[in-house]
Order: sequence, then structure tokens, then C-alpha cells
Amino acid sequence: MASRDYEAELQTLITANRILYHQNVVDAYGHVSFRHPDKPDIFIMSGDKAPALVSSPSDLIEYHVGDSSPVDPSAKKGYQERFIHSELYKRYPEINSVVHSHSQAVLPYTMNGVAMQPTFHIAGFLGTHVPNYDITRSYKTGDSQDMLVNTTSFGSDLASTFSSTRSKDPTHTVVVMANHGFTAVGTSIKQAVYRAVYTHVNAGIQSNAIMLRSAQEQIKPGSTGEIRYLNEVQTAGSLKMNEASLERPWGLWEHEAKAWSLVKKPDGV
Ligand SMILES: [Zn+2]
Repeated sequence: MASRDYEAELQTLITANRILYHQNVVDAYGHVSFRHPDKPDIFIMSGDKAPALVSSPSDLIEYHVGDSSPVDPSAKKGYQERFIHSELYKRYPEINSVVHSHSQAVLPYTMNGVAMQPTFHIAGFLGTHVPNYDITRSYKTGDSQDMLVNTTSFGSDLASTFSSTRSKDPTHTVVVMANHGFTAVGTSIKQAVYRAVYTHVNAGIQSNAIMLRSAQEQIKPGSTGEIRYLNEVQTAGSLKMNEASLERPWGLWEHEAKAWSLVKKPDGV
């Protein structure tokens, strides 16, 4: 029999999925999880589904922190990047919720040496240094370079970036991920979601500030360094994964298109 706390957390997780979508932190991709309140070696997140469409506890799956395997071996398909979550829960006992996002506002801060900085008080949780995890440094010869954190090894490398010491407490609340997005952690679902939303907001504010400053100083072309984009191996590695995951965004966009049609039908039609 599940505890009332657990049942309430499941509902909070469903709400968190929808909030993150409405705040533009996730789209068809991205995910949020929490650690089981009574069983710290288990965490819960949605199955392979666009977050906005998560609506019932039956959409959620329990996983082992140890290896990201589902508690129910017959569970439906899950997110490939659940190792982000499992490795953070494994390494840091105080973390109870994790959000992973491909925020378009944050992405520019992952690839060109311009570090994310806290621009306003609501983003103080960022601290003065937001680390950048570059998965290409974790790749070994022969690895498919689709940039996904889809093994315990990649997840462990990302998790270690949250600490500048070997402490069991994370030093950082947010880590940006090169050419990929970012991950935020918290002691509760609400805290992790808050941090994820305001990391996204902070990035937009910082970009506006930089653009204004650049306009004022009329920086010459080429003086700001080159932007690092995906290379040939990484685009080739990602292509297969892109093709294999078309169904998820399509399902989301189809649902949106049907639910929020701009054309209002007259009564009786
Ligand atoms: Zn991702």
C-alpha cells in the first residue's frame, strides 16, 4: 500500500511536467523526476512521453537508483536519459528531484565559452559559477556520439560535475551541458522546477543584457570567438536518434493542434 505522501508526490510530479511545458522549459523532450519518499533507492518519472501529455499515475514508472532499471520488468518504454536522474540520486543523498531540459534560451551558454551568470535575484541559486558538462570528453573510440546521457557512465560523469569536491553534498544546483541543455537539482520537486524555470528565464535576461551591451560597444565581427556547433561525427550520431524519436514530438504537436485550434467552429456545426 503506497503512502499518502507518495500518492501526493505522484500528483505533484504530474503537475510539474505540465508546468515545465507551459514555462517553455521542456517541449517534446526533457523530463522531471523525484526520489521515492519511503524508498530512497527508487525514483519515479514519466515513461517515454511528451511532458505536457503526462496526466495520470499510470504514465509514471518506478526505477532503481542503482542502474536505472524499471522496478517492474514489464514496464513500458522509458526515457533514454533517465541515467541523468539515477546517477544524481546515487551520488547525492540530499537530492530528491531532478529536471533535465533542452531550453533554447540556455543552449547558447553551453557552446561558446560565454558562461551563464546570475543576472537577477531570483536566480541567486545559480551561484557565481555554473559548470559546463561536455559529454564529448567522456566518449571513447567507437562510441555513438548522439550527445545523450544514456549510460550509467555518462550519468556518473555529469553527476560529478555538480560537485567541486568529493563531498556528498552537491556544490552546484545547475549544470549546463555542452550542445545539449541543462540539468537542475533540488531537495523537492517544487525546488527543482523553480530552479529549472528560472535558469531558463535567467538565460533570456542575460542574452538581452549581452546584446544591449554589444550594441553599445559595437563589437567588431570575429572579436567574440567562434561558436562551437555539433561536428560531423556528432550530427551523424544524432541523426539516427532523431529519426527514431519522431513520434514523441508529433504526438505532442498533434494533441496541441487538436486541443487549441485557432478556428472556432460555430455552434451546432
Ligand atoms: Zn537531453
